[in-house]
Amino acid sequence: MLTFSDLPALTGGTLLQAGPEGVAIHQLLLDSRRIGQPSGALFFAIRGAQHNGHRYLPDLYRRGVRLFVVDRLEEVPGELGAYPDAGFLMVANSLAALQAVAAYHRRQFRIPIFGITGSNGKTIVKEWLAQLLSADDLICKSPRSYNSQVGVPLSVWELNSTHTLGIFEAGISERGEMVRLAQVLQPNLGIFTNLGTAHDAGFASPQEKVAEKMRLFAEVDTLFYCRDHEAVHLAARQLLPEHRTFTWSRFHPHDAHVAVTIAEASADRTVVHIAIAKPLPQEHTFTLPFADEPSVENALHGLAVLLWRQVPAAEIQRRLDRLTPVAMRLEMKQALNDCYVLDDTYNNDLAGLTLALDVLTRQPRRGRRTLILSDVLESGLPASELYARVATQLAIHKVERLIGIGPEISQHQALFQGIEQTFFAKTEDFLTNFYPDQFQHETILVKGARRFGFERIVAAFQQKIHGTVLEVNLDALVHNLNYYRARLAPGTKLMVMVKAFAYGSGSYEVANLLQFHRVDYLAVAYADEGVELRQHGISLPIMVMNPSPDSFQKMQQYHLEPEIYSFERLREYLRVSHDQPLPAIHLKLDTGMRRLGFAEEDIAELSAMLRENAARLRVASMLTHLAGADEAQHNDFSRQQLAAFQRMTPTLEAAIGYTVLKHALNSAGILRFPDAHFDMVRLGIGLYGVEATGENQEALRPVSSLRTTISQIKTLPAGQTVGYGRRGQAVEHERRIATLAIGYADGYNRRFSNGVGTVVVREQRAPIVGNVCMDMCMIDVTNIPGAQSGDMAIIFGEAMPLPELAQRIGTIPYELLTSVSERVKRVFFAE
Ligand SMILES: *Cc1c(COP(=O)(O)O)cnc(C)c1O
Repeated sequence: MLTFSDLPALTGGTLLQAGPEGVAIHQLLLDSRRIGQPSGALFFAIRGAQHNGHRYLPDLYRRGVRLFVVDRLEEVPGELGAYPDAGFLMVANSLAALQAVAAYHRRQFRIPIFGITGSNGKTIVKEWLAQLLSADDLICKSPRSYNSQVGVPLSVWELNSTHTLGIFEAGISERGEMVRLAQVLQPNLGIFTNLGTAHDAGFASPQEKVAEKMRLFAEVDTLFYCRDHEAVHLAARQLLPEHRTFTWSRFHPHDAHVAVTIAEASADRTVVHIAIAKPLPQEHTFTLPFADEPSVENALHGLAVLLWRQVPAAEIQRRLDRLTPVAMRLEMKQALNDCYVLDDTYNNDLAGLTLALDVLTRQPRRGRRTLILSDVLESGLPASELYARVATQLAIHKVERLIGIGPEISQHQALFQGIEQTFFAKTEDFLTNFYPDQFQHETILVKGARRFGFERIVAAFQQKIHGTVLEVNLDALVHNLNYYRARLAPGTKLMVMVKAFAYGSGSYEVANLLQFHRVDYLAVAYADEGVELRQHGISLPIMVMNPSPDSFQKMQQYHLEPEIYSFERLREYLRVSHDQPLPAIHLKLDTGMRRLGFAEEDIAELSAMLRENAARLRVASMLTHLAGADEAQHNDFSRQQLAAFQRMTPTLEAAIGYTVLKHALNSAGILRFPDAHFDMVRLGIGLYGVEATGENQEALRPVSSLRTTISQIKTLPAGQTVGYGRRGQAVEHERRIATLAIGYADGYNRRFSNGVGTVVVREQRAPIVGNVCMDMCMIDVTNIPGAQSGDMAIIFGEAMPLPELAQRIGTIPYELLTSVSERVKRVFFAE
């Protein structure tokens, strides 16, 4: 048992306040949103590039957390006296302290621990190794790809006395990081997967990168690797004597412990021939249930470990047969009756369950939170304790309805008090009793171990999502958010534009993610959009850019803050009910856009009006908008606009007697006018993956991808025309014409007719033939011989960049994004 008073010795820190006595530390906490049981949770205030844990101390304290590790006393909000009865440990570096505590925990276990690193395949090798060894051991493994400076300590913390084996991955992006992970993990076995070019920027040379990664293995008894990766081999040889390695090879059969020959490769499996020379010569043939190169390599690492453990060949084959692909992400899918399904059907251990529940609680409120859960496997705990822990997790994450499937969970149903519950012994029983009407407007996490076949449940839930889909990659969105955040000086606030259905991407899902990532403000165009966000649980401040007077009452009710751009609007706003306070306003100043806003000559009158109504009217911010922020040719004009803004705002601030947030820049402006970020910036199109200046497009990741399917393919003899008005003109040769399930009513502009647009099928471009119709259009797939009905066709996305597509019809990406019709299903992806 580890208590707070043990920490000074472990971390070299100083106790500033002793805190509650004798409480066993049971959770290492880094994120105030993940508090489980507050007593016994130890919070590390870690500072990162865009984040400072010290800021959350008051919130954590209010919610019952009493043990804190800090490294900047001056950044603790308030005096220590504001946290009576809390323990405070002052350390040189909170992250290092977290690692020291995890390293101590690791030292309590004398079991084999695998450390896995390499450029690609770490997570899959880890998951597969766990699948291959689960018959022999009770395994503790990193959840998903928790392999960073904080992920590794949190993973190791999960070790308990029932585990007989640990399998953890470690990933680094710069020099010096691996030594710290090695100290936490202390692996006695290692796997080096391979070496690619990821993170090259953090290292002086590829040699340095491989040597740095290799440091994870300095103390291992045995390192497994593929001899064919020359750089890995050289580095391993330098670090370890041969008897501490176990290698496999396809191309150097005499210089490896295991010689591998690919005997046969078909569409979905690979037959390998294995020869081992020592200690006794033996040969075997195994079938791997995969055909692609990376999967074969990943599986061979696992196979090498099984051979080294001398598992009998027949048993090895049985285990290989059961290897299943690893889903790397948790998918959110739109389902029937306005439900959403979070699909996590590939494994089910306790750590994975907790992570998936975190994702569930992050989703916008949409009726009940439901969990469909199979028996939890490989926990190493007695069943009664295991399900008691599961029940605690469900309570923490406010799950309201549980559907348990499996003999074990059914036996322990008494533990799940206070939530609606149903249990089934088998997945089949659930499916035979499944009536869609039992599920309405709820978010349903489907979490099951592979053997329960929960993908059948997900399929039952999903509306037939064929036809046209807009896929929204939430990870890409966060990447883009962080790209812009990194360009802001500390303290600069960020307003994100979620107008027009979040530029077509789906407003609550995006708003919810932004709320989770703690942006400061949201902005919408109309009051109704703001009301929708509020109704879906968005509590961030929201600015409404174009509020109509008849919506002012509603805005008051929902705490939506209007942009006020004219005297007329201001007078109307002041007429709204006096019963409640008015939400603060945002003053729009017109400095050259000539659209909405007060002009410079209005400032005196405006100042007077603000002064008169000071008792009722609070100003939250003043803003202006540049007319040509994205183009250098307008730089002088933009500078004049900014100068006008800086002339107008001090007068207004003097009139009201306090300072307010001032902001002027959109996505393009953020990059082009770093000296004019003022107090806040307004991020729009950049978040959605389009870099408006066109100069840094590679730094952003595309967020949405519009795709559809081929409904039918016809072979047309020479001389036939295609579609309405016979506009798809006859040609002199035979062609194959495919009909797509998308038309202008879905947002595929009619101007793409007759070869102006192209779509991507099987990674090749195919031109539009004839006119785009209301619900369909036709493409020529003559040069894509494999194309068949049911194939996916990408309208835009990574393979067909939005800026290029927009240019073809003389418009801008903004228009294409926002014109995808609401009848097109949105499918969101998140980790
Ligand atoms: C839409 C909008 C933005 C965001 O513009 P982007 O070019 O999409 O970044 C900023 N400010 C105002 C006033 C807007 O209307």
